[in-house]
Amino acid sequence: MEYRRRNNSDTWHFCRNCSNWPTSDYKVRQSKPTTGELDNECRSKEANGNCR
Ligand SMILES: [Zn+2]
Repeated sequence: MEYRRRNNSDTWHFCRNCSNWPTSDYKVRQSKPTTGELDNECRSKEANGNCR
């Protein structure tokens, strides 16, 4: 799973279908981030089995 965070944000996204999925100017991690926060929309999608 890939985690992305905008350079000016502390919020990590991990669903490609998130409406806020960063597509430019972002940092990437391949493992669960240990700093910052996980995006609420991504978490909600995951909980609903709707995270792609
Ligand atoms: Zn997100």
